[in-house]
Amino acid sequence: MGERVTGHGRTDSTPKTVNRSFPLSPFTFFTYLRSPTKPRYNKRRSNQAEDSPMKILIVGGGGREHALAWTAARSKGVSQVLVAPGNAGTATEKGMKNVDIGAEDIDGLLELAKSEGVDLTIVGPEAPLAAGIVDRFAEAGLACFGPSAAAARLESSKAFAKDFMARHDIPTAGYKVVEDVAEGKAFVERLGLPVVLKADGLAAGKGVIIAEDMATVEDTLEDMLSGNAFGQAGSRVVIEEFLVGEEASFIVIADGDKVLPLASSQDHKRRDNEDRGPNTGGMGAYSPAPVVTEAVHERIMHDIIEPTLAGLKADGCPFTGFLYAGVMLTTDGPKVLEFNVRFGDPEAQPVLMRLKSDLVDVIGRTLKGELDRIELEWDERFALGVVMAAGGYPESYDKGHPIHGLDTDFPENVKVFHAGTSAAEDGPAVTNGGRVLCLTALGETIAKAQAQAYQWLAHIGFEGAFYRTDIGYRAIHRDQGSGIGPGPRT
Ligand code: ATP
Repeated sequence: MGERVTGHGRTDSTPKTVNRSFPLSPFTFFTYLRSPTKPRYNKRRSNQAEDSPMKILIVGGGGREHALAWTAARSKGVSQVLVAPGNAGTATEKGMKNVDIGAEDIDGLLELAKSEGVDLTIVGPEAPLAAGIVDRFAEAGLACFGPSAAAARLESSKAFAKDFMARHDIPTAGYKVVEDVAEGKAFVERLGLPVVLKADGLAAGKGVIIAEDMATVEDTLEDMLSGNAFGQAGSRVVIEEFLVGEEASFIVIADGDKVLPLASSQDHKRRDNEDRGPNTGGMGAYSPAPVVTEAVHERIMHDIIEPTLAGLKADGCPFTGFLYAGVMLTTDGPKVLEFNVRFGDPEAQPVLMRLKSDLVDVIGRTLKGELDRIELEWDERFALGVVMAAGGYPESYDKGHPIHGLDTDFPENVKVFHAGTSAAEDGPAVTNGGRVLCLTALGETIAKAQAQAYQWLAHIGFEGAFYRTDIGYRAIHRDQGSGIGPGPRT
């Protein structure tokens, strides 16, 4: 296991993000999915006409999945989007249907895809990817978009990810993987405080503690390594150097070889205004992120994304799917905080709201290995999403509170993406999770998008609801004359 990784400073440029459309008939995708020469082809539908409508399955039930389903439903040639298990939002959208199968029930999902004749499955959350859903679907000859379990280790094991980055010279915080408290304390004494302690496995965004004193280091190591806090996920702990800078989310689509960057975005992980309070799954996001200037974009592509994909390919686990790099923009250049092997949540909501290209066509062509021939078209406006959460989140919270205001007549530039909601027999949807919904608005400027989001969010509520009131503040300060330009519009 490596001990320290230092950043490196290559600066030469990479191909730029393109933002013109390259529409392609859905028939191209049908031809691919129904071609008997492709392993991921859904054999059950092989004899259907190429222009017959397509069925898409979205796996998951959060805000990201509502956004993926909403975007897929707008794609040409799609007749129905099944969402398993979905939420109250996907239950009521035109062209969508919830199916009561959990996102981690791979056998159930496989059965569903076969019996419903699903043409393409898109996986939202990390857990089924880590459990090998893509491998299982591929064995059955079904198209499923996401990385294999082997490539998904980039997210499912932080120790794997750090050792991978060390091996491939990808800039990240210095670190050590430890399995006992004394070893951990000795490393922190050498490294100096503050440090970041991360449970090795998947911990739903809660396995990261920033420790500013030795007592917290010791308590956290004991808690994680004893298995009390995170079970198996905490049997190893990654201790990292604390990085200073502004964070950005950099999401790309990859086909195992080639890569296409999506629009930039920025998340707000802390619960309270001005990035205070505990870490959460994300309290809001916006796109584009002006902090990702063209130069920063090129550096992230060159120093992080390209070597990561090349490294995975060289290690025998090429990556197909959405790859998310959470990046800290330090004075030494961008450094990886974490990899996610799927779309970010809540970044998916603003990013997909800006996507004008046909998502299902883009994914179909990615599976076909044609990424280099795709150009993405983005709405020029900013999109900003604010998460409304349940009182008590990210710790314990109630469920089952009726949500009022969802029947408001929202304008075209505003969309309420549901997350932790469920449909009630009669009456409005009720809360069913910590992050309940993410209202997303488009605006000509980041400030206008923010004003729209908060104006319309005021129409919605439920008992104990809360949200941050400053989503987008960094980009707005930047826009209001900090001297740093607005950056590229993607
Ligand atoms: P997610 O909910 O996105 O899955 P996660 O639990 O995988 O998050 P990380 O993204 O690794 O955890 O860390 C969560 C947050 O903790 C980061 O967004 C960042 O704000 C902070 N953080 C993580 N690592 C560092 C570091 N080395 N230095 C400073 N802050 C850090």
